[in-house]
Amino acid sequence: MLSTIHTVDCIEVITRFRKLGISSYDVGSVLATSIAQRLVRRICKDCCKEREFTDKEKAEFERIGKRYDATFNLDGAHTYEPVGCEKCNNTGFKGRIAANEILSVDDDIKDLIISEGSITEIRKAAFATGYRPLIVDAFNKVIEGHTTLGEVKRKLAY
Ligand SMILES: [Zn+2]
Repeated sequence: MLSTIHTVDCIEVITRFRKLGISSYDVGSVLATSIAQRLVRRICKDCCKEREFTDKEKAEFERIGKRYDATFNLDGAHTYEPVGCEKCNNTGFKGRIAANEILSVDDDIKDLIISEGSITEIRKAAFATGYRPLIVDAFNKVIEGHTTLGEVKRKLAY
């Protein structure tokens, strides 16, 4: 079964279910995958201005990379400054793109949920399976030139 629930991220879904009165046993037995997404505006390719990442922005990538055990490759990457044109109603952005994160509930995580493990413990186990929070995906979308750090900052409080 697929369902939608509003939470800050895909791990907090577990907290939400627990608060709804669903037993940890039931959550652990039933939850297979949890996906969270946040939409960020896509830079308008018709008017954006290409530029290098600033040192401050590079430091931001390093800080987030360190915090979430992620590697960002900025070699040869550029970023774009929103400008504004007729096609984007002078906003500098046109359309949206989803930043996402996926929690795959493996046996370790399942056991943690069932044994009333804390969200911190579950988060740690999730990291071991390769889970990374959506800020990491959002930052990669900045490197790929789809959006900007400013937009990511605006949409994802981090
Ligand atoms: Zn434009």
